[in-house]
Amino acid sequence: MRNCKNKEMLKRNKFIWHHISKALLSIMLFCALFSIQVSFICAQENEIQEEGMTEGIDDGIKAEQIVIVIDPGHGGENLGGEYEDYTEKEMTMIVANAMKEELDKYEGITVYMTRTGDQELSLEERCEYAESVNADFLFCLHFNMSEHHTLFGAECWVSAYGENYSKGYSFASVEMDMLQDLGLYSRGIKTRLNNKGIDYYGIIRHSTERDIPCVLIEHCHLDQENDQPFYDHNEKLIEFGKLDATAVAKYFHLSSEELDVDYSGYPNVHVDVPSNVVSPDKTEPDICMIEVLDQNMTNGEVKVQVSAADYDSGMLYYTYSYDNGQTFSQLQRWPDKSSDTFDFTMQVPPHIVPQIVVNGYNGYDLYTTSNMVSLPSMDYKTSEEIAAELAEQEALKSVSEAVASEKEKTEIVVTRELTEEQEKKPISFGYFLTVCIVCALLVLAMTISMLLILGGRKRKRRKRRRRRRR
Ligand SMILES: [Zn+2]
Repeated sequence: MRNCKNKEMLKRNKFIWHHISKALLSIMLFCALFSIQVSFICAQENEIQEEGMTEGIDDGIKAEQIVIVIDPGHGGENLGGEYEDYTEKEMTMIVANAMKEELDKYEGITVYMTRTGDQELSLEERCEYAESVNADFLFCLHFNMSEHHTLFGAECWVSAYGENYSKGYSFASVEMDMLQDLGLYSRGIKTRLNNKGIDYYGIIRHSTERDIPCVLIEHCHLDQENDQPFYDHNEKLIEFGKLDATAVAKYFHLSSEELDVDYSGYPNVHVDVPSNVVSPDKTEPDICMIEVLDQNMTNGEVKVQVSAADYDSGMLYYTYSYDNGQTFSQLQRWPDKSSDTFDFTMQVPPHIVPQIVVNGYNGYDLYTTSNMVSLPSMDYKTSEEIAAELAEQEALKSVSEAVASEKEKTEIVVTRELTEEQEKKPISFGYFLTVCIVCALLVLAMTISMLLILGGRKRKRRKRRRRRRR
């Protein structure tokens, strides 16, 4: 019975061990499979991560390599501005070529141009091209003209929207600083909207649609004498191109071994991304007042103090009038854009009642007319009158001088003639003595001959008397 029980126990133990070992084996097998699976997944994940990193590195290189597009304004039938011998489409081409040539000397930038010849392109085509080369920025080169040929200076137009506004404004700040250093007057960095409330300039509108920041650079005005010295020679247009290139290099923190320049630390102006559209200024300056500080009655100079302000776009120009606004001076630079008050001296003609008025212009060329100040008439002689008087005096002086010199000449001639005669007959003592002796001899000879004649006659008479006596 006991043996039978032991046998049964042994059988049961064997059975339990068999199942335990089977379970352990299954667990081990499962673990092995699981670890293989996990390592496979990890390997796969690593592979994906590595691939991702490779992509990331590619992106990094791409991000470092800046791509820009230069757009020489106009072309083909579209000539752009024309003034005297200058045609805008030709000028923008010279500037663009010089800009590209200069930028090619920098590392980390690829430069494309919308046109390299005289072909006509639509504004949309230019932007499509910029998009096709993945441009980081589009720079449009232009020259300006104004309706009444009165405006002068440089300006930049940017998109009124979001990041394109802030990037555009930041670059334009570099560009405008450099144009001002060249001597051009800054007309500012501005936005312009059409009647639909979107960017007015097509090139800016189409590039903003494609999310490409764009700045339209109006280098200067072709039709105003203030700006003419800046573009009147091809060399100066090339200078514009180099300046534009340097502004790009500064903005993108580029460096060039060839040029030995490094703009990696250039401090760009930070411009916050606007949450709303940046609208242009549509209102005239808020205030424009004048006060006469001094009136010089002897030369017609009038010193005027101007106080004007525009809280949207700032003050830009002023003009002045002495006939209550019937005629105005040319546009004058606002002396200090950070100050609302300044004084200037104007010239008022004599014999009129001066009525002084000033027009103050804001950044969008809108103006406000000041109060009028009436002054007493000034009876001074104008510089023209003084010059005429001087000329008259000079004429009189030259006439009297001419008469005097004529008289002097006659006297000189007479004296000279006399002197010449004197020179011809020099009276010496020997000559005088000889003449005297000759004269004395002549007198003596005449006396002797007279005596001889008289003596001869007496002798003849005596002979006749003797003959008669005989
Ligand atoms: Zn143009």
